[in-house]
Amino acid sequence: MKTSIATVSISGDFAEKLAAIAAAGFDGIEIFENDFLVFDGTPGDAGRMARDAGLAITLFQPFRDFEGLPEPQRRRAFDRAERKFDVMQEMGTDLMLVCSSVSPVSLGGIDRSAGDFHELGERAARRGLRVGYEALAWGKHVRDHRDAWEIVRRADHPNVGLILDSFHTLALGIDVDSIRAIPADRIFIVQLADAPLIRMDPLHWSRHYRNMPGEGDLPVTEFMAAVAATGYDGYLSLEIFNDQFRGGSPRSIASDGQRSLIWLMDRVRRQEPEVGIAVPDMPERIVVEGVEFVEFATDGRHLAELEHLLSGFGFSKAARHVSKDVTLWRQGDIHIVVNTAIEGLARSSFIVHGTSVYAIGLKVEDAAATVARARALGAEPFEQAVGPGELAIPAIHGVGGGLIYFLDEKSDLARNWEIDFRPVEGGTPPASAGLTRIDHVGQAMGHDEMLTWLLFYTSIFRTRKTTMVDVVDPAGIVRSQAVENDGGGFRLTLNGAENRRTLAGHFLAESFGSSVQHLAFATRDIFTTAAALRRNGFEPLSMSPNYYDDVEARFGLEPEFADRLRSESLLYDRDEHGEYFQLYAPTWGEGFIFEIVERRNGYMGYGAPNAPFRIAAQKRHLRPSGMPRG
Ligand code: MG
Ligand code: MG
Repeated sequence: MKTSIATVSISGDFAEKLAAIAAAGFDGIEIFENDFLVFDGTPGDAGRMARDAGLAITLFQPFRDFEGLPEPQRRRAFDRAERKFDVMQEMGTDLMLVCSSVSPVSLGGIDRSAGDFHELGERAARRGLRVGYEALAWGKHVRDHRDAWEIVRRADHPNVGLILDSFHTLALGIDVDSIRAIPADRIFIVQLADAPLIRMDPLHWSRHYRNMPGEGDLPVTEFMAAVAATGYDGYLSLEIFNDQFRGGSPRSIASDGQRSLIWLMDRVRRQEPEVGIAVPDMPERIVVEGVEFVEFATDGRHLAELEHLLSGFGFSKAARHVSKDVTLWRQGDIHIVVNTAIEGLARSSFIVHGTSVYAIGLKVEDAAATVARARALGAEPFEQAVGPGELAIPAIHGVGGGLIYFLDEKSDLARNWEIDFRPVEGGTPPASAGLTRIDHVGQAMGHDEMLTWLLFYTSIFRTRKTTMVDVVDPAGIVRSQAVENDGGGFRLTLNGAENRRTLAGHFLAESFGSSVQHLAFATRDIFTTAAALRRNGFEPLSMSPNYYDDVEARFGLEPEFADRLRSESLLYDRDEHGEYFQLYAPTWGEGFIFEIVERRNGYMGYGAPNAPFRIAAQKRHLRPSGMPRG
């Protein structure tokens, strides 16, 4: 598998782009003329820089409005092509992308265009160059790869081939199986892009909203399976126009690109096992059952406050780590680990972020296989020294550099709590509040990081993404998207803040970076839990009375039921499946959120309609003094 990426896909100057693309493991780049025009050096300099970075120049583009022209425009188009050929030869690339004409004077005509391409092929051949023809979804006469292929076929020249671009084919819903009838050696390169399903004109959609395969909603796997079936084994080249990527981190966008291609070919290989796809072998997407634990990093000074909070929620201190300053708090199937070690990643995380969740532990089908798959997809493994007899728990780095540990049932990892921990004796445990498991974990991040982490989770784990919802914070929009397994036992929400005045943005700014911001515990009976918490001295986040008037009217609730919600400060939502109850604690520190939820009859969502109300309430409670910090 040979990978390439268009230089327009990422930000930075030419040298920065090359460095990021090479570091991510690509074999080549497509050079966009505009990128090149702002570069100070000569075409020869650009070619040398690419080759020095170990990158081939897979093509030069775009050459526009070439085919089907009347004279004198036709003659001028050939003159333009010759000048581009000069540039390409100096740069050291042999392939020019010609996209279908949008010129108002283009006459069209399959044979006229084929004739033009035959002549262009002759001229290219004299210089040892090739031209590839791509159908733009908004071309004047040619918008469909089947028509582009007919022109290439009739041009009948070895130096003229077809360029396929998943966006153009899929944007118009063209049958991808038509690709299976094209000979592989006539396909000069394959460009890949995905996009979210948004209704808009194809040109605007393409120029601003493309994203990496797997990040959007288009059937790129089916497209690529059809390409693979032809026997095509040339470059897979990402051509992504995305406003956000152009302003994002070149390194992280380039790594996302490489991850997206590896995952794409992994999917194609599984879908078309007979085709023989050359992609690194790796275990299938990993089944994740749920969140087994969350681990807080804090220090001795702030420990009491965290422990007070956990006791208030009905957790009891159950065990202590055999060798580290780590304790385990437990309630139902929820494990909260509190790490006050004075060295290691927990400590450095505490120094940077203050008291924070720096690790989560996922229960997976196979922990070793998870790390193997994550590594194949470019994730960074984490290893640390363990004491004699202690478990080495497989882990990788996730959002904000935090850790994701993996536990399974098929190894000693199943006995993690017995092997690495010793029960704590004495003391009166607080009364349980009936919390049973972790319903979901919310991670706050910049809006521009959301696709990165969405791709991360969905490529490694057998999960799916839900539709993105806009959560209205009084200070701006927070984009929220969930990643879930099939049974709903594993749920993560990714919350992307656009500015610092939103609750999520404030948390990001004040705790210095993306991390877990939100823990939601499940209960089977929210009213019993609310009563138990009250006995523990817990005071819930109080909602504005207007909220209850609204919810009563919106759902046509019985007044007594609405009063009960109000008196317990519960939030309510309903979908086509069932009901959802939420109970929030006042925000903690710089906006850390503890929530208790009950899902009845398979409610699928996260209470998004309630978010504006609770965010307003949370902001009123936000402590001015800030997150405890070392
Ligand atoms: Mg293209
Ligand atoms: Mg929630």
